[in-house]
Amino acid sequence: MSQRTLVLLKPDAVRRGLVGEIIGRIERKAGWTLAALELRTLDQETLEQHYGEHKGKPFYEPLMGFMASGPVVALVVEGERVIEGLRTLAGPTDPIAAAPGSIRGDFGTIVRENLIHASDSEESADRELKIFFPGLV
Ligand code: ADP
Ligand code: MG
Repeated sequence: MSQRTLVLLKPDAVRRGLVGEIIGRIERKAGWTLAALELRTLDQETLEQHYGEHKGKPFYEPLMGFMASGPVVALVVEGERVIEGLRTLAGPTDPIAAAPGSIRGDFGTIVRENLIHASDSEESADRELKIFFPGLV
């Protein structure tokens, strides 16, 4: 089942020069392709739409500050079961709990600065793709 998912390489990944490494891992998965790619500094409105489900949680405001602290790389990845697959490649939210071999497990230590966002379901992917790439057909 071919799908599309939204991936954000967070400001820490860009600052640390891990963009090539992370995109390389995604590209090496058989049959997955990049459908869109852009370096972009996110404004508050975009971030509020994207992370609206977390509004009111203790980590929300620091997360917004972090996500606006530098450019992100936004990409659309297309391919077989790519929504689930990207979540597996990323690893769980807490990088210390993430297995080595996953992106968060290999490169992260701090929960907030966990390098990568990937849509968590078909519904989230639909919603997030419209926020970041409204023109994509
Ligand atoms: P995921 O990105 O794995 O889907 P969530 O949707 O739960 O995780 O949270 C969104 C983002 O908010 C996380 O990727 C992380 O950057 C940050 N975050 C989540 N929980 C915490 C927390 N307890 N403390 C600090 N930051 C957090
Ligand atoms: Mg999430």
